[in-house]
Amino acid sequence: MDAVKGRNISFPRYAEYNCAFRFIIEEAIGAKYIMPPAITRRTMELGAKYSPDFVCTPFKTTLGSMIEALEAGADTLLMTHGLCRLGYYGELQEQILRDLGYKFEFVNLSEYDMSKKKEYIRIVRRLNPKAHPAKFLAGFMEGLRMVEYLDEMTAEYYKNCGFDASGGEYKRIYQDFLTAMYTAGSRGEVEAGYRTAKSALRRVPLKKPQRPLRVGLVGEFYTVMDAFSNLEVEQKLADMGVEVHRWMNVTNHFLRFSAEKNMRVKVRDLCAYEMGPTATPNIFWAREWAERGFDGLVHIKSASCTPEIDVMPVLQNIGADYKIPVLYLTYDAQTSDVGLMTRLEAFYDMIHMRKRVL
Ligand code: SF4
Repeated sequence: MDAVKGRNISFPRYAEYNCAFRFIIEEAIGAKYIMPPAITRRTMELGAKYSPDFVCTPFKTTLGSMIEALEAGADTLLMTHGLCRLGYYGELQEQILRDLGYKFEFVNLSEYDMSKKKEYIRIVRRLNPKAHPAKFLAGFMEGLRMVEYLDEMTAEYYKNCGFDASGGEYKRIYQDFLTAMYTAGSRGEVEAGYRTAKSALRRVPLKKPQRPLRVGLVGEFYTVMDAFSNLEVEQKLADMGVEVHRWMNVTNHFLRFSAEKNMRVKVRDLCAYEMGPTATPNIFWAREWAERGFDGLVHIKSASCTPEIDVMPVLQNIGADYKIPVLYLTYDAQTSDVGLMTRLEAFYDMIHMRKRVL
């Protein structure tokens, strides 16, 4: 599809999902997507420098990423809505960027009712008045399929990469898969990239014990999924020889949201009220994994994330009831790799010794 003239759209970096945002903007809407640079220390420092002190870390990370997107040539920024403070963040971030002197159009999804189909049409028409509805639908559906492939492959990767007996093949295939998703320009390329990687992963020899150490990750939506924000906690655990599980991803949380209604019923004995955007699935999966005999749980959140602070006492109860260790990790712009590694190594030693004794 020919890109609409003069419209360079960007969306802040968010785990590996920017490849799907690019696909939808370019193939479904027909505008140009500006890929913000991968998040680095600079992104965090920029975000922290211009953010109020009390906001949670994803605000700072996404603000830094927006600044880098504007520097890379974006003239239109998209910002998501959310069920917590995130719903107000777009407005504040827009004002900060305008005060810094940037000129851009800001499309704040909080201003739209995202439960209604006609609102999606309004957004698409705003971004490209000439967008073709049929082409949009086809491209949008393929973009969502890309999200599902990403989540499926990422889950498989972290469950198995710690047992790769080939000396690095598993990681190489996963990274090739990501490159294929970032560069795919058609449905055929998305499907081919996924199928090639899927069958290649199956052929890699794994050296996995019959009862490997299994750890479940729960936590705040952004930090638990974004490898830079959580300092690659999944990779670090996997490298120690742990099978890492995480339910929280875009596919499970948004595209299969109906599953959460059942979870809410099942955790009623642990918490009577809905406590935040990710509380129910986090509590449900923490107990589910404890019942399935997992060796440990890791709870990940950003500093000053109120919804996830509320989840912590419930996790403490689960830990006590099922005698399962829970590691609580809080991240801010200053969290260091060394401090994290020390805590992860101590956690690993504990669950390893506990498994041998049990
Ligand atoms: S869930 Fe927590 S960290 Fe994430 S945006 Fe909301 S308040 Fe901030």
